[in-house]
Amino acid sequence: MIWDTSRPADTAEWQCTRCGTTNRRLVAPRDDSASDRCMHCKLTHDIARGATPVRWTAKAA
Ligand SMILES: [Zn+2]
Repeated sequence: MIWDTSRPADTAEWQCTRCGTTNRRLVAPRDDSASDRCMHCKLTHDIARGATPVRWTAKAA
């Protein structure tokens, strides 16, 4: 990892609603939502912080 102790980014892990692939995206620590595309099927999703800091919820955009 290139990130140091200043922790400029969190890892958001989310699961594609179409193909089930688990995707990861780096987000700013203060961001509560983002959008990302599935690396497998390219479907765009809106993602938001979920029950844990790492696992985010995703819904197709
Ligand atoms: Zn997918």
